[in-house]
Amino acid sequence: MSTDSAPATKVDLEILPTQHPLGDAERAQRMQSPGFGRVFTEHMVAISYSADRGGWLRGQLKPYAPITLDPAAMVLHYGQAIFEGFKAYRQPDGRIKTFRPEANAHRFNSSARRLAMPEMPVGLFVGCVDALIRQDRGWVPAAVGESLYIRPLMFATEAALGVRSSRDYDFLVIASPAGAYFPQGVKPVTVWISEDFVRAAPGGTGAAKFAGNYAASLLAQMNAAAEGCAQVVWLDAVHRRYVEEMGGMNIFFVYQEGGRTVMVTPELTGTLLPGITRDSIIQLARDFGYAAEERKVTFDEWRSAVRDGRMTEAFACGTAAVITPIGAVKSREGTFAIHNNETGPVAARFREALLNIQHGLAPDTHGWMHDVL
Ligand SMILES: *Cc1c(COP(=O)(O)O)cnc(C)c1O
Repeated sequence: MSTDSAPATKVDLEILPTQHPLGDAERAQRMQSPGFGRVFTEHMVAISYSADRGGWLRGQLKPYAPITLDPAAMVLHYGQAIFEGFKAYRQPDGRIKTFRPEANAHRFNSSARRLAMPEMPVGLFVGCVDALIRQDRGWVPAAVGESLYIRPLMFATEAALGVRSSRDYDFLVIASPAGAYFPQGVKPVTVWISEDFVRAAPGGTGAAKFAGNYAASLLAQMNAAAEGCAQVVWLDAVHRRYVEEMGGMNIFFVYQEGGRTVMVTPELTGTLLPGITRDSIIQLARDFGYAAEERKVTFDEWRSAVRDGRMTEAFACGTAAVITPIGAVKSREGTFAIHNNETGPVAARFREALLNIQHGLAPDTHGWMHDVL
């Protein structure tokens, strides 16, 4: 059963459209090859929270513009900042749908709880995203693999230097047209096993989409790049043995056991980010008749299972790139290739199945798609 497709409640926003809308030609030019996260639409949603004024205040849908912050704003000093990421897709008939937005709203609230920030009603979260997409509907690309990336965020705005949780917050939603992540076709990446740094420790913030997790990952990502690798693979903080994630994506391992395909993904121990793509792949695996297991996988198991031919593929998954095959794994002890450093059939099958559901080219049997327009 899916709880993802409840209809959005109407939200009460003050609507302040831009006085200088872009012409179609100018917008088309900006959407030509947008890449990822560099071009933004013409509007944004802004809602403030004030503990002293009773919670969430009436928000605005207004022109996209820089914001002002007091230099003492608590986010700049103590880092209370969380975010979400999901996408809107153009359907074959021209309508627009988002993928599992209520799941993102629930995850946003669990991130908020961990960072001692206020939760937001799920209907308000989804409803104001819908309002922004409707306003900026001309910015939703049409081609398969293209989408409008939605980025909700919340941060502490109270001007005060005492260390405690802020009493004031701003919630914003911005949107960015996203081109095909792999314009030249899906290419496997080489990954670097990080032995010097960890992403998250038990009891820490690893399960929250918390800005500080990403700040803490950047040096390891630079080390990976210096090793000629596209991404870093994180091991658990305690034993430094169990594989947790790849960069900002979850990981799947594909085993062939006695004629059966078994999908294995690291279990959610509290240090992993519970990806919505990860959850969707587990459900699709069962639809395909594959087994799906959530359990611990050591780096040693990864290497030996590839060597004996039991593990035939590995891939990472997340909203931005959907599925990224892992072609080679590099550590201080050396490098090994997986599936001959080519995209395997299982990764390709999941990628196509997800994109087809998202773009309305296959039936949405789990009720994952949410109607926006
Ligand atoms: C966002 C994120 C993911 C993937 O989550 P999706 O909901 O599938 O996009 C995985 N790991 C980390 C660390 C993330 O930030």
